[in-house]
Amino acid sequence: MKVVMSTGMGKTHTGLMVLAEFLALRGWRTPPEPGTEPSSRYVEFTGELSPTTPAARRGEQGVVRARKLAGRAAAPCALCRAEYPQDLLELAHIKPRTVCTDQEKLDLWNTMLACSQCHSLFDKGLLWVDLAGVVRWEGGFPPGHPLTMWGERVAGGRCLEFRDAARGFFRARLSYSRVTC
Ligand SMILES: [Zn+2]
Repeated sequence: MKVVMSTGMGKTHTGLMVLAEFLALRGWRTPPEPGTEPSSRYVEFTGELSPTTPAARRGEQGVVRARKLAGRAAAPCALCRAEYPQDLLELAHIKPRTVCTDQEKLDLWNTMLACSQCHSLFDKGLLWVDLAGVVRWEGGFPPGHPLTMWGERVAGGRCLEFRDAARGFFRARLSYSRVTC
């Protein structure tokens, strides 16, 4: 959607323009057009990627998360595809961060924005993505359990961050599915 700001009083508005102005005032920005890619898949970060002090740990993640959001005030979870305000989205690593190289930690294709529920289930290997990019559920909770309902609702959809260049990261995740990061 193209956001158009009006400057003139009394200017005729279409409903779409009024909506666009409302969203712009709320801080929404036009998301990247589908199919467009960042100029570089690697994030620039000057901090320590393998720090020994707790304070410096995971220092690059805020920068990577901001690049993933690209200024959007809301974005879809890559796994359940529901739209969330940006402050409810977490940076999830496809290949577990604890076994990533420094370059992999800065690779946009190795991360996805996910809601906290999906992120937690993905890190624990209960929600996973097959090598065709389809979200799968393997919870083992009883029928009617909230997690069963969550998993069954999400399963079968396409992971929004699946791409050929990320296939190796998803493959690595499958082999480390119980590693939490
Ligand atoms: Zn989600």
